[in-house]
This record gives sequence, structure tokens and C-alpha cells, in this order.
Amino acid sequence: MCVLYKHFRASLKSWDELFQDASDFATAVGREQLISISHSQEGIEGIVTVWYWGEPEVCPTCKYNLTGNVSGACPECGKRLT
Ligand SMILES: [Zn+2]
Repeated sequence: MCVLYKHFRASLKSWDELFQDASDFATAVGREQLISISHSQEGIEGIVTVWYWGEPEVCPTCKYNLTGNVSGACPECGKRLT
């Protein structure tokens, strides 16, 4: 078990939509695992971050830690992730 986070970021969406997306995710995470939700801004981009306890996501092939991966492929072995 370790502390994980998930970013919700967009420049075109409104804050309401980002907060709603983060709320939906936090609800799915559950109250036992949820730590907190923070938000920040990077230029014109709004970022909402959900912090929670969970098992790290690892590549099914090489076990590389994929937490925060957004490319859709394992950077270690190149496996496409679904
Ligand atoms: Zn891999």
C-alpha cells in the first residue's frame, strides 16, 4: 500500500467539471482510501489532484511502476496498456 495520486487537468473545461471528475474518482476510491483533494493552476491549465491510498499500478509484463503513466504504454518494455 502506498500513497497514490491522480491528476485531472484541462484548460478547456471549467473548474466545476474538473472538480466533478475528481469527485467521481474520489467516490470510486472510497472513504477508507481517500486522503485529500488539492488543486493548483499551471498557466491556463487547472489541475485537481486526488490523493489516496492504493496498490501501485504495475506493468503486467515487467512489473514496472506505472503510477501516473499517461502515455498508454510501459516506458520500460513498451507494452501497450489498456
Ligand atoms: Zn513493462
